[in-house]
Amino acid sequence: MNAFSHPPFVPAGLKETKTTCCYCGVGCGVIVQSDGQQVVGVRGDPDHPANLGKLCTKGSTLHLSADPLLQQQARALHPELRETRAEERRPASWQETGDFLARRIADTIARHGPDSIGFYISGQLLTEDYYVFNKLAKGLIGTNNVDTNSRLCMSSAVAGYKQTLGADAPPACYEDIDHADLLFIAGSNTAYAHPILYRRIEEARRVNPGLRMIVADPRRTDTARDADLFLQILPGTDVALFNGLLHICLWEGLVDQAFIDSHTEGFTELKNAVRDYTPRHVAGICGISEEDLGKAARWFGEAKAALSLYCQGLNQSSSGTAKNAALINLHLATGQIGKPGAGPFSLTGQPNAMGGREVGGMANLLSGHRDLANPEHRAEVARLWGVDDVPATPGKTAIPMFEAVRSGEIKILWIACTNPAQSLPDQNLVQQALRHAELVIVQEAYRSTATVAYADVLLPATTWSEKEGTVTNSERRITRFKPVLPPPGEARHDWRIVVDVARRLEMLMGRERSLFSYESPEAIWNEHRETTRGRDLDITGLSYRILEEQGPQQWPFPEGAASGRKRLYEDGRFPTASGRARFVVTPYKPVAEPVDARYPFRMTTGRLRDQWHGMSRTGTVAQLFSHAAEPAVVLAPIDMERRLLKQGDLVHVTSRRGSQLLPVAGGDDMRSGQAFVAMHWGQEYVSGRSADGGGSHGVNALTLPALDPYSFQPELKHAAVKILKAELPWRFLVFGWAAPAEVLRLQAALRPYMKRFAYASCTLFGRERTGVLFRAADDYPAEPALIAEIEARFGIEGAQVLRYDDRRRGNARHLRLAEGRLEAVSLAGDIAAESWLREYLDGGQPVAALGRLLLSPSATAPQGFKARGRVVCNCHNVAESEIVDALAAQASDTPQEALCSLQQRLKCGTSCGSCVPELKKIILHESMARAEAI
Ligand code: SF4
Repeated sequence: MNAFSHPPFVPAGLKETKTTCCYCGVGCGVIVQSDGQQVVGVRGDPDHPANLGKLCTKGSTLHLSADPLLQQQARALHPELRETRAEERRPASWQETGDFLARRIADTIARHGPDSIGFYISGQLLTEDYYVFNKLAKGLIGTNNVDTNSRLCMSSAVAGYKQTLGADAPPACYEDIDHADLLFIAGSNTAYAHPILYRRIEEARRVNPGLRMIVADPRRTDTARDADLFLQILPGTDVALFNGLLHICLWEGLVDQAFIDSHTEGFTELKNAVRDYTPRHVAGICGISEEDLGKAARWFGEAKAALSLYCQGLNQSSSGTAKNAALINLHLATGQIGKPGAGPFSLTGQPNAMGGREVGGMANLLSGHRDLANPEHRAEVARLWGVDDVPATPGKTAIPMFEAVRSGEIKILWIACTNPAQSLPDQNLVQQALRHAELVIVQEAYRSTATVAYADVLLPATTWSEKEGTVTNSERRITRFKPVLPPPGEARHDWRIVVDVARRLEMLMGRERSLFSYESPEAIWNEHRETTRGRDLDITGLSYRILEEQGPQQWPFPEGAASGRKRLYEDGRFPTASGRARFVVTPYKPVAEPVDARYPFRMTTGRLRDQWHGMSRTGTVAQLFSHAAEPAVVLAPIDMERRLLKQGDLVHVTSRRGSQLLPVAGGDDMRSGQAFVAMHWGQEYVSGRSADGGGSHGVNALTLPALDPYSFQPELKHAAVKILKAELPWRFLVFGWAAPAEVLRLQAALRPYMKRFAYASCTLFGRERTGVLFRAADDYPAEPALIAEIEARFGIEGAQVLRYDDRRRGNARHLRLAEGRLEAVSLAGDIAAESWLREYLDGGQPVAALGRLLLSPSATAPQGFKARGRVVCNCHNVAESEIVDALAAQASDTPQEALCSLQQRLKCGTSCGSCVPELKKIILHESMARAEAI
């Protein structure tokens, strides 16, 4: 899929630039080929230690997401503002916008105090952006109300590390995968969420067949299927599991007493506490067998080097800190830390969540891993910034911040590079807050996000391929983020926007010397570097020049060092007052919202393989929808059978906070009683009529805002829901190709219509061409005028349209053809012809000869038609049906042979490798089906 491959050919007039992928925390290096106006291709940077030349489906389509035609439609290009809610936003100059913001902020501070201002920013910002936001809030305005979407992502990992090891510093590195003899993956579908790291795991297992892998997860994900031992625990029971593993290690003498004695404190209390976590008790809580629990404990305790990899399954929980700490307890007790191949290694979700942590860009942190609660730390930061003091009162973290906006305590909310109207839990609260705020400032690259609809001021920001600065990945490695294109329209860099408003505010405040006299991101970074001097993350030995000349570097990298430190705590000393790591007693607490008779399903959320977060970027690339084309709630097949549900039936998924209609899909990764909805499906892609007229809000209408008491991270991973079949007999579906310069405009134009039906979704499809698919359902047929309006958006109007209308039955089929091929299709009432018409449109097959069939009442598929089905390999466009056919036609003795043969014949899994786990799953299914048939 990469637009060019090794060895690179750089045609005249094109330039190559090394930068970083803007999606997940693996932090892959990317080489971008551009002509100065357009990104024409990307490939993995073979010299970047995080990916060694590889990219996943998301990274390898970065050039498609930067397509200028798409960008023109999706991007915020000019500042816009409105002075009152009665007005529409209007275009404004940067000068007018900056003056307006400075005036409103100064006036609000004067009337209500600095804590009436709140900043909700993002782990996708660069370190330099983060730094100036933090300084503006805490240094100039004097409020700690600055929090980020990293609160939804990594704050439990931060709290877990600090409680036990004394600092927010992941001790291991990617290379440790190659040295481990046991990988323990907990609460992470690494194959989907960190695909390139997973490629490294696959390679390590290939090289070392003795490398065992245990996976603990409520779902049998692609990662879990690959495990040597899969512990399918019930949601939220991780603390009990880790305590139980430690109990067995203690009982069987598998702890490292010498390490405990020399390098830790608090073991006696923990030992007493885990006494109660007997195998039988733990197996009962977790819903696994005692035998598997015992095996996992012995594998962990006997390993020479055990490396744990974990992510949101541990973090997004009301016990997130305890889950992290309990796992770290296990590592400390067995001495599995500070040596090659060992350690508790939290995988960061976002590309620069680590950078945000480094600059202390959260409501309870300060620059350079300092704590707000520590007066000395506050004084140090005040001195470094040149201000009198830094406010002592902790700021509001994400959920309390939105509560404070709703209650009127916070008057002005400045949101940057994130989409809380999609991603925060309990969307009712979020939407009420955004409506209630006196002023909502949204600093965004994409004008298509749900949050932009609430903006009083829209500040157009630059994004990947335009920005410059640094990011830090999961293994503490700092990489330069480089621009290759000029900012589009009037978009500005995030740091520049902040600095401009800050300087105007300083003038209004009568400040003589500016705190923000930066003219480049490097100047900001150099100041940030100074704040780390003498701290655990000391980077005083680094510079932009070193990062340029010597490539990405890990911290700490203090002045005088020749290189960064690969692995932490190899000397057994920890950054606590005593120099010893601390065991933390972690009692197991159940999920915040247990299931009951009214809400009997445990709903979990998670990622799709080919999408990223709220999809503002990946959602512009049609081919990234081919693996999971439309929103769905996934249930165990047995639960569908019991409820008489068929694939695609619509169900009401309802929690105590809200409801969302969704099509149902069966998933053999699910345990009975569980439901899964991908985190990406916000109101931009799935919605429907609501009582307040605003439309339903997607997956986070259902999730709950219960917080972890230490990290304040919400429990996005679990909510109790009920699932009831929706009786919506009338169906409507329109899909068709759109001109490249129109596709996202068409999608944006269709979004308001989604609120006019009980259920509606709007997604993209296609590969060489891009199409838009609008699907709706209701309990009665829509007005013909509404249907005609929507059809007209797809060009289905006028005399050129092939029409079949059966008014008596309420069925309609309207088709727009060009040169005998389908261009757009509208189906109302009976939409059964969808299955083959979509593939005819997608494949560009001629349909002119099928005129009578198209106009017959049932429009059944032409003879011999076979559905291609879902695309599994996105790089080589290989569908599931083609894989199944190829497997039926080949004779292979082992799954590995079958995989090799598939790769030779169809090329699937030979490029980015993201589909390899799924190919293995299909091979297994097919061989079991064949064995059953014999
Ligand atoms: Fe980007 Fe994929 Fe690498 Fe993550 S694994 S940084 S999404 S290329």
